[in-house]
Amino acid sequence: CLGLEDFYIRRLYLRIQVLHEKLILLFTDCFGRPIASAPDAWFDVVERYSNDNNKTLKRTTNISRCFNLGSYNYLGFAASDEYCTPRVIKSLKRFSPSTCSARVDGGTTTLHTELEERVANFVRKPSAIVFGMGYATNAAILPVLIGKGGLIISDSLNHNSIVNGARGSGATIRVFQYNTPLHLEKVLREQIAEGQPRTHRPWKKIIVIVEGIYSMEGELCKLPEIVAICKKYKAYIYLDEAHSIGAVGKSGRGVCELLGVDTADVDVMMGTFTKSFGSCGGYIAGSKYSCPAHLYATSMSPPAAQQIISAIKVILGEDGTSRGAEKLAQIRENSNFFRSELQKMGFEVLGDNDSPIMPIMLYNPAKIPAFSRECLVQKVAVVMVAFPACPLLLARTRICISASHTKEDLVKALEVISQVGDLVGVKYFPAEPEKQ
Ligand code: PMP
Repeated sequence: CLGLEDFYIRRLYLRIQVLHEKLILLFTDCFGRPIASAPDAWFDVVERYSNDNNKTLKRTTNISRCFNLGSYNYLGFAASDEYCTPRVIKSLKRFSPSTCSARVDGGTTTLHTELEERVANFVRKPSAIVFGMGYATNAAILPVLIGKGGLIISDSLNHNSIVNGARGSGATIRVFQYNTPLHLEKVLREQIAEGQPRTHRPWKKIIVIVEGIYSMEGELCKLPEIVAICKKYKAYIYLDEAHSIGAVGKSGRGVCELLGVDTADVDVMMGTFTKSFGSCGGYIAGSKYSCPAHLYATSMSPPAAQQIISAIKVILGEDGTSRGAEKLAQIRENSNFFRSELQKMGFEVLGDNDSPIMPIMLYNPAKIPAFSRECLVQKVAVVMVAFPACPLLLARTRICISASHTKEDLVKALEVISQVGDLVGVKYFPAEPEKQ
């Protein structure tokens, strides 16, 4: 019979053992291979993006070219494009890489004004302002839109730039369950009564913040339901379309177009140029805004602005070709093909049809370096998602599909991922039998 002291010592011992196992998981992969001494387990420093539709990259450790399944280059505009690249080079010569000036101090070029007009027109809003960095767009605009006495209701899986922007605003923050309109309504009901006029509420302003496509889940926002709830409770909606603008919708105009939501019902439209447009920066579109980071930061690099202008022209067919429409059809076809093939193989794939983001669940964090390393050995580069970007035991690899991936490339990559999936043991469902 154990004395009380023995009992506590054993409990302590068991705890140490569990902790020890967890620590080992942090330092070795599921095959017991050390992680710290194995830089080959991760995407390495990239030496060069190739111009064959940006699908390969060079790694400096062993200079190997890999098929790139990790980039946000959704429409294949990055690296080199027959319409965009010559115009970007021309703008570089005309304006230089930097304006070296803030927007209010001579940093507004004709490219900046043209870009802002085109973005407003593209997202179907009266006005837009652009920033040199996507992250800073969220972080800088939220404190302008809302402050002390206001209430932000934020999706639990919103991007870190939104979280930091919300915190910086000084507003009260409440979080609702990831992409769950019912829970959003519950949170709203705890704060105000349905139909209460904006002037008679305990909050100066209420903003609900959601994303168009969630970057770690690949799921589309349940925007129609969320819009209906926000109308009912007279709350403003702020929509981050970093991953959806340019990537989904018949003419690339994002989730509103795809899901049939009138953009007039979304008060603030935010997006980045770092994905579908192959450039950098972000925008805020809606009514006319003014923001210190827009006025006093050095303005967006002119060649970056030119790249976005040219990409929008291609998407809308203003380059005189149908390449934009073809790219949009291709990314949809590629994404739906890749997702359904992965599912047939027995992988657990998150996200919705039409979404170019497809996370494959690994769960066990020790499988992250093993999966990544085995894919890299076979020259396929994938992005791994681990804590704190997702919960500790919900590790995943995240595939991003591009319109520039060819069917042949995708079939080869699927073979590699299938072999690695068997090796690492992450096919959680039975594979679908091959059709005769
Ligand atoms: N919002 C979301 C939803 C994002 O996923 C990201 C980054 N991928 C950002 C904002 C920040 O954008 P950027 O990388 O262009 O700074």
